[in-house]
Amino acid sequence: MEVYPAAEQIMHDALEIVHGVEIKHKRKVKVKKIVVGVGELSGLDLHELSKVLAGLIEDSALDRCQMELLELPGNVACRCGFQGRPRLFRLKERVVAECPKCKKEELLVHGGEGVSVEKVELA
Ligand SMILES: [Zn+2]
Repeated sequence: MEVYPAAEQIMHDALEIVHGVEIKHKRKVKVKKIVVGVGELSGLDLHELSKVLAGLIEDSALDRCQMELLELPGNVACRCGFQGRPRLFRLKERVVAECPKCKKEELLVHGGEGVSVEKVELA
């Protein structure tokens, strides 16, 4: 996953959540903090993502809100029957997941691949 599209998706989702709250309460709200889940299989560098996100936040309605990035564990299934968190290897920009039981890399990914807004805290 690329850093910029991931950051844009997070901003889009966060603003949508805030917009929903504003409609429900019929007033503008101020966001104190957003908590973002980053799947460990996404290959995203948390440091780089937080830098890009900070720039987008500054130019948006979320200006001055804090952000917290949480790395979420991957969840995969393997043909050998294993299900759970894979072993990970980082090869340059890519993350390779391996079954810890049989060492195969053909895994069915159930989670931990993308980014998501986990929580929006209002001021
Ligand atoms: Zn396996």
